[in-house]
Amino acid sequence: METNATLLSRVERAHPDAPELHQAVAEVAGALGPIRHAHPEWQEVRVLERLVEPDRIVSFRVVWEDDRGRLQLERGYRVQQSNLLGPYKGGLRFRDGLKLGTLRFLAFEQVFKDALTGLPLGGAKGGATFNPRGRSDREIQRFCRAFMTQLHRHIGPSLDVPAGDIGVGARELGYLYGTYRRLGGGEQGALTGKSVGWGGIPLRPEATGYGLMYFLRAAIEQHDLSLAGLRCAISGAGSVAIHAARKLLALDAQVISLSNSDGTLFCPDGFTASHLADIIERQGQGDRLDAIAPDLSGAEFRPGAKPWAEACDVALPCATQNEVTEADAETLLRHDRFKVVAEGANMPCTAAAVAAFSAARRVVYLPGKAANAGGVVVSGLEMAMNAQREPWTEAEVDEALQERMKFIHRACVDNASRRDPVDYAEGANVAAFRRLAPAMLAQGWG
Ligand code: GLU
Repeated sequence: METNATLLSRVERAHPDAPELHQAVAEVAGALGPIRHAHPEWQEVRVLERLVEPDRIVSFRVVWEDDRGRLQLERGYRVQQSNLLGPYKGGLRFRDGLKLGTLRFLAFEQVFKDALTGLPLGGAKGGATFNPRGRSDREIQRFCRAFMTQLHRHIGPSLDVPAGDIGVGARELGYLYGTYRRLGGGEQGALTGKSVGWGGIPLRPEATGYGLMYFLRAAIEQHDLSLAGLRCAISGAGSVAIHAARKLLALDAQVISLSNSDGTLFCPDGFTASHLADIIERQGQGDRLDAIAPDLSGAEFRPGAKPWAEACDVALPCATQNEVTEADAETLLRHDRFKVVAEGANMPCTAAAVAAFSAARRVVYLPGKAANAGGVVVSGLEMAMNAQREPWTEAEVDEALQERMKFIHRACVDNASRRDPVDYAEGANVAAFRRLAPAMLAQGWG
């Protein structure tokens, strides 16, 4: 069997521009050590090595015209990592300077996340170097049209089903779907995250944040704790962060922060539901947290600050990859009551931060690929709804999401060798691998 060290050095040599992929593969390979040894038949067909290599990467030029009539050039990508368990599935990210290496790690993680849901979904990720921030609605529409004009030939309800991610929300998905439809793709199930009324499912915008809370609740109960009264620090102010905050309040926990790349909005006594409603409304008008802060009683914006310095019980990194450094982990570990990290973003903790939490022995660490799977779960329901051509109610979606997050939680607990606290990272990787490896063996080479 190829050792982890050989596998990693081969991945590093083959893909020198993808440091986040090396990090993700190292974490997965580390967690899978014992189970890979126990299954020589999986080794023989090189399951992990093959999962690291995407089936295909589509890369294309996107030319669009800005409001001043100038032509702009961007790069678009779709990394189709694995369709072993179902159509390629995963979000699209629009971000300035987006790197293919970042999408490679996200696609690799997505394969494991999607496998964990137990739904028939493969894994993919895509996006473009375009930054929607500061762009007019017309510019966003022109960019989305140009992007989908290139991407449409590579997607479809049984082939590859993109959704949103950072920089791609309901508005962008609307323009993307509209272009897909005009180009002759009449199938609603080719994209998820559509708005309700033309193929979208209720609760999709809330799904990742709500799912994170359902997973957190299950993990808290597993460790004989209770969410009520816990002080929770959240990073990010996008849809995952905001909906996680709303659900935390509904579960009687306290939310003391939200953040963006400019700094952190603190509310030491906890945000109220009306604070959150104001933040959602003002962000919808294009205001950023620093501009909103003066109008929120009891809240203060700290430029350049991260959310982890205030005493908290639970840290919820919901912004982006590698935002929680080793120093941040040490800051969190200095809080006496600190006990849980629940990742709303994809791989928001650096490897050194995860090692620090694990060395502390008292921290329950909930990795994103399990804890934030609620978004793709509801995307899976949206695909089913589109295929059935029968609408689902919000209550039905919420119930199915709760059940599915409990199912994922159970799979993690059952596949973890350490119970106190549960090693969720091991459990998540092993549970996903136990679905992927037999499928690869059964389906043969190629
Ligand atoms: N972008 C989300 C994620 O990271 C959702 C993907 C989807 O719904 O396909 O899981």
